[in-house]
Amino acid sequence: MRFQESANSDFFESLQGKRISSHLLKACLLLLALLVVLQAEEVAAQSPGDTYVVKQGDTLASIAAELDVPLEVLAATNQLTDPNALNVGQILLLPPGAARRTVIARPGDTIRSIAEREGLPDLRLAILNNSTPAARLFPGQPIRLMRDSAPTPTPFGSVQIVNVPSTIVQGQAGWLEAEVDRPLALEASWNGAPLGIRPLAIIGKEEAEGEATVWGGYVPIAASLEPGVYSLSLSYQATSGVTVSRSFPVFVQGQVFAVQNIRLPADKDELIEQEISQAELDYLMPVWSRTVTPIQWRSPFLLPLQSAFPTTSPYGVRRNYNSGQYFSYHTGQDFAAPGGSPVLAPADGIVTLAEPLTVRGISVILDHGAGLFTGYWHLQEALVGPGETVQAGDPIGLVGTTGRSTGEHLHWELRIYGVAVDPMPFLKRPLLAVPSTVDLEANEDTEKEQ
Ligand SMILES: [Zn+2]
Repeated sequence: MRFQESANSDFFESLQGKRISSHLLKACLLLLALLVVLQAEEVAAQSPGDTYVVKQGDTLASIAAELDVPLEVLAATNQLTDPNALNVGQILLLPPGAARRTVIARPGDTIRSIAEREGLPDLRLAILNNSTPAARLFPGQPIRLMRDSAPTPTPFGSVQIVNVPSTIVQGQAGWLEAEVDRPLALEASWNGAPLGIRPLAIIGKEEAEGEATVWGGYVPIAASLEPGVYSLSLSYQATSGVTVSRSFPVFVQGQVFAVQNIRLPADKDELIEQEISQAELDYLMPVWSRTVTPIQWRSPFLLPLQSAFPTTSPYGVRRNYNSGQYFSYHTGQDFAAPGGSPVLAPADGIVTLAEPLTVRGISVILDHGAGLFTGYWHLQEALVGPGETVQAGDPIGLVGTTGRSTGEHLHWELRIYGVAVDPMPFLKRPLLAVPSTVDLEANEDTEKEQ
């Protein structure tokens, strides 16, 4: 795209103090826009030459919000001097990197009315937004038009639509979705290791008669996984007995994590300490690796504390114990909450573990279904017992400093299929998008039979 090229060269020239022009201003704005877009959790594929057709009720501000670019950048890209002078049908150029990920609901909007306006299947839009087609929306509410990555409709065999994330950031969980046109057991694997995908919904098909099953699941990426290109495979057994499979490349994008040196008291024998850590991990692995429990939650996670205490150690921090003899990464988020503060369930779930452990101290683990578990370590006391069902906001324990802990804090951990990922994005991201109108029990039965 011409604009982008000239903007870049102008910018670098300007660093040498050669000249200042109106191009420079545009370049700075553009760079700002690119930074904003790059910092967003979802990095949309750059499609130069994208345009947007102005619709009834649009303002430059609403379009800028939908595109997630600064208003000034959109105005500059289109050389608009009066932001109020927009005409219905007018074609706007999108700044590089911009893509319509969301639309803003207008007064009286439902998922269905937006779907009609955008020419999208209403149930697909409902699934994307964890809603139902008839749901009334608040004016101003953002409605997602696409998933973390643009859909890649590469059908193979009975698999009609495959939506594989093209990029997943180290330490985060990507989302995989596939649509199949007949009952079959779809399997997914990441570099050869199985992923716990499951049938989520049965939807009526657009063009043809019949139904399709939407399968979905997370692709959790450990903070320790080397950045690079990995292979995600989908497979199923055809009626002929032949295994039909396809692999997709997924890029794991690196992230910069801080490094922390932790000194353990010298009286503890390092080797014994490592053996204890490993034994405890071995004990917990089967607890948080199950994928049989149906999805327990319907909305984004709550903070597991009553208020936002400062983070003392974020997820992913590289840890050196006693001068690098034991290298690992921090598998959760530490909050500096005072001892005795109530720890709350962030979402509905089932207590799978509540007991004292050597390293983690008094611990609680919740199973939220679909292979997603949360853990709470170093508690003063557990307020729940194994097998109990909890709802979002229920107290499950009290903050303490039991186990291998240097002070009172809450360690909050989130694991998917046993892989610890950053729990913080789960406080805001739309979670598994299961429309409440779908009979999930039927799906669960189907899965068990297979
Ligand atoms: Zn911690």
